[in-house]
Amino acid sequence: MSFQSTGKFDLVICDIDGCLSPESHAPINESALSRIAEHNRLAVAHKDRPIVTLCSGRPISFVEAMCRFIHNTTIPCIGENGVWLYDPGANTFEMDPMITAEHLEAVHEASKLLRMKYQADGVTEQPGKSAAVTLYHSDTEYLRSILPEVKRELQDRGWPFRVSMTWFYINCDLDHVNKATGIARLFAQTGIDPARTAAIGDTLADKFMADSVSFFACPANADPEIKKSAAYVSPYDEIEGVLDILQHLDDEHATG
Ligand SMILES: [Mg+2]
Repeated sequence: MSFQSTGKFDLVICDIDGCLSPESHAPINESALSRIAEHNRLAVAHKDRPIVTLCSGRPISFVEAMCRFIHNTTIPCIGENGVWLYDPGANTFEMDPMITAEHLEAVHEASKLLRMKYQADGVTEQPGKSAAVTLYHSDTEYLRSILPEVKRELQDRGWPFRVSMTWFYINCDLDHVNKATGIARLFAQTGIDPARTAAIGDTLADKFMADSVSFFACPANADPEIKKSAAYVSPYDEIEGVLDILQHLDDEHATG
């Protein structure tokens, strides 16, 4: 399913944590979220603004739920940092076909190894991931302290992972899969022109999003490093920032 608006942009690809939902596990601002849903309903009805879809490191089931909350009924969203595409129009899930049985075996082995090494110290694995291992600990400083060792352990075994730290998690993602490869699949499936797309993100992992679209923006709470890639930084945090950015994109259109 494709989409074309009469505005400057057809699609806004939005990160979830730190953008549509709080960076912490605090409740989601549902009235602000309903304004995103209203935006998407108007986009479909009037074709005068971009549709908002999602690109997140979260398990795809979480992304699917958010996709339904924001009333995106047509454009695929991306989960697990590019591993999955969920098409809300067809209700289908597709894992990146470049992920082989060997890759999945490496993920399984990495999960086993990291559990053996760190479970006793209170490190847990985020449930629901298919081709990535995400570690969590209530003491973020402790989690940060084991990052170099986690990197080394996986590297020493020759497993193909990119290990990175978000605000609260260590992500071990397959090297050849990221938000950019997910977005490339989305563009290929929908025929949407990258030159008519924007993205919103808040951490360095979102550089893959910034490099895939023609306009990148951040909410105020974003990491200073990723703000360097932004054409616009909202003065507002998280979802209020996203709503402000959508308004800004509208104004961009109005002023040409
Ligand atoms: Mg984020």
